[in-house]
Amino acid sequence: EGMDIDELAYQLAVGESEILRFLSVRGAMLDNVQTLDKDLVKMVCMEYEVEVLESDPVRVEEMAKKNEFLDVEDLDKLVARPPIVTIMGHVDHGKTTLLDYIRKSKVVASEAGGITQGIGAYQVLVPVDGNPQACVFLDTPGHEAFGAMRARGAKVTDICIIVVAADDGVRPQTNEAIAHAKAAGVPIIIAINKVDKEGANPERVMQELSQIGLMPEMWGGDTPMIQISALKGENVDELLETVMLVAELQELKANPDRNAKGTVIEACLDKAKGPLATLVVQNGTLNKGDILVCGEAFGKIRAMYDDRGSLVDQAGPSNAVQIIGLNNVPLAGDEFESVDDLDVARERANTRADAMRIERINAKAGEGKVTLSSIAASVSSGNQAGIDTHGLNVILKVDFQGSIEAIRQAIEALPQENVSLRFLLQAPGDVSVSDVDLAVASEGIVFGFNVKAPGSVKKYAKQKSVEIRLYKVIYDLIDDLRNAMEGLLDLAE
Ligand code: GDP
Repeated sequence: EGMDIDELAYQLAVGESEILRFLSVRGAMLDNVQTLDKDLVKMVCMEYEVEVLESDPVRVEEMAKKNEFLDVEDLDKLVARPPIVTIMGHVDHGKTTLLDYIRKSKVVASEAGGITQGIGAYQVLVPVDGNPQACVFLDTPGHEAFGAMRARGAKVTDICIIVVAADDGVRPQTNEAIAHAKAAGVPIIIAINKVDKEGANPERVMQELSQIGLMPEMWGGDTPMIQISALKGENVDELLETVMLVAELQELKANPDRNAKGTVIEACLDKAKGPLATLVVQNGTLNKGDILVCGEAFGKIRAMYDDRGSLVDQAGPSNAVQIIGLNNVPLAGDEFESVDDLDVARERANTRADAMRIERINAKAGEGKVTLSSIAASVSSGNQAGIDTHGLNVILKVDFQGSIEAIRQAIEALPQENVSLRFLLQAPGDVSVSDVDLAVASEGIVFGFNVKAPGSVKKYAKQKSVEIRLYKVIYDLIDDLRNAMEGLLDLAE
């Protein structure tokens, strides 16, 4: 069968207009044609010296990577879905101001007077080439929420906007936010904010960002960086257009014509209404009256509200709705799915509750966790399957910004033929809950040099089976790592 021009352009990484030009030169009349037949596709592919695969197992795999809620059966019925965006950044750099500005200026006022209801997500319309297109923002700014969701295995966000104040530059939480987005494989757009302020220095921000691996597009790199004033709304339109451009490249799709699946992003107990949950639909369509399994909760949807507080009957891909009708309050990050009947829902919810209990017991026993000892044991037994291809994800917290490079270089100088190291985060400051979440989500280990881990963080790490190793002497850290990587470690724990 044929292929859409935009799909082909995406696969070949060329512009649609270039393909159209090429075809028109060869006499194909393609005014207003969206889909190319097989022969034209072949012709274009030959021009770009790309082989045409008849079946597309690669595409199946690729789609699944982008949206774990897609099944093979969906592939022929995929349609574009709006991007889901999270805003992160250092405290006071303007996340809330930006979210508020976007909501106020872009959410169409409802008849009720435009009162928006905080359900944890809202949808805006962004004009793209004159056509309004939907974009969904998750409403809880900050990387803590993002990290906590990911630590629970949820992947909801398609694009991260990271806000950096132009008068302050890259700060610890900027680093953390970037690490979280990178670890999740989510594309980053930088909003350099507060450019209206005296002392704003966007150039310096770009320099700092390029030093930590984010090269601005305008300097030949591939990270879009838009200079904005969230307070005055300056350039926010350009920021949103960039979001839509990045979204287009990601080719976000879902099949609206099936039972709904997705993730809980917020939930609480309302005195009058009972359990309330905000769900983001990631595949399929959710209907009023649907029966859901939702983490360890289940029930029949009695009512659904959109972000303006209006009752709705349906919610398609990427839409967020608040629902009532569950028997219990689920957790943010829980998956949901609509199923055929209540018995199935109850059974699945119970199975899930059992599985969670077992997981908690295993976590207590420290089973399956990645530690320096487990890595050493795995290397010495030559057990390739033990730890994910012997990679070690490192989260490094140090006392001063200045120590980071020295320690990192010393660590990187270690021979890595047995175990390869990957730095997820290197930042000054004590070990935080967010660091632990990053370690959970990426099966990493947290190393601290001359920093502390507060009791609450230690406790949380224990619950999550994350190893935190604190050092005062740099050689001790290096020695332990080297020994572990060579399979020699014998640690008294
Ligand atoms: P958050 O902690 O990242 O959510 O930051 P906020 O949105 O609460 O902003 C912190 C402060 O910076 C507030 O006083 C805002 O009014 C101010 N602010 C945010 N954006 C801008 C901006 O573009 N220009 C100026 N001058 N101030 C801003």
